[in-house]
Amino acid sequence: MPLLEVRDLQVEFATHDATVRAVNGVNFTLEDGETLGIVGESGSGKSQSVLAMLGLLASNGRASGTALYRGENLIGMPHKAMNRIRGNRLSMIFQDPMSSLNPYLTIERQMTEVLELHKNVTRREAKKRAISMLEAVRIPEAAHRIGQYPHELSGGMRQRVMIAMALLCEPEVLFADEPTTALDVTVQAQILQLLRNLQHDFGTSIVLITHDLGVVAGLCEKVMVMYGGRVMEQCDAATLFAKPSHPYTIGLLRALPRLDHDGGELTGIPGNPPNMAHPPAGCPFHERCADASDQCAHEAPALQAVHGTHWLRACHRPVEAMKTRYQETSHV
Ligand code: SF4
Repeated sequence: MPLLEVRDLQVEFATHDATVRAVNGVNFTLEDGETLGIVGESGSGKSQSVLAMLGLLASNGRASGTALYRGENLIGMPHKAMNRIRGNRLSMIFQDPMSSLNPYLTIERQMTEVLELHKNVTRREAKKRAISMLEAVRIPEAAHRIGQYPHELSGGMRQRVMIAMALLCEPEVLFADEPTTALDVTVQAQILQLLRNLQHDFGTSIVLITHDLGVVAGLCEKVMVMYGGRVMEQCDAATLFAKPSHPYTIGLLRALPRLDHDGGELTGIPGNPPNMAHPPAGCPFHERCADASDQCAHEAPALQAVHGTHWLRACHRPVEAMKTRYQETSHV
């Protein structure tokens, strides 16, 4: 049995204007110690998919489908049962540590609370474990820093504190929502290395949400590319980077700077993601896709197997027709 098995996950929000279908039929599995990258632009549905699994949707949100964690369905799970699992067996690192940490409480109070709640340990023992986790995420002078408030720490240190908090109870799955977006490039690289080390040391499975395929390349074994609330392409990371076959994936790759290429302009994807309150008919990407045909404007492509069940894509254009595109991409 996989550690996490998500089947036909749907998320919608009731608004004054319309019902926003933010996630439409997401499926994936996650094994012990595995890392899955969920990639896409803002509004693609990647964060809402994870928030739905953790019972953290906004009050106007509704999730359906199944997300089996060790055989227990997280979707629709009663609050009491969810509170037992969330922050303990399933943990989340949020995008912005400044707004996710409580500015009125010291790091010590925020960290020890997690352990006291889930592990039933004394305050003294909780503090000891919290300091040792801060040391594990390379916070210098951890015993001193633990007494400080979030505003006294740098952005990189606050992100490390968030990671330490998420790992305190040794979760089986760590959901990381753009964990490096707010950080400069050097600190980004340090945080990614830290996640790699922690995964190695603790055997944690990771679901990494990002808009950056470069981050996926360094950390993930499997990738799911989302756009307009749907999965566009889903396969192992090696296949995605060697043979991207979906126009949107290829667009993301062509927009990525590469160290092994000496110059040339990056090619962005023209236009903006769709307004999910009024999504376009047909393929959600057709208004921005250079390969779109008439069929694309009317008929949404189904997610189909390219090769076995491990490489899926949703596109009317045959994989063969995209070969030249990915060859162009491979030397961009
Ligand atoms: Fe482009 Fe059509 Fe494929 Fe959508 S289905 S990605 S519009 S070619």
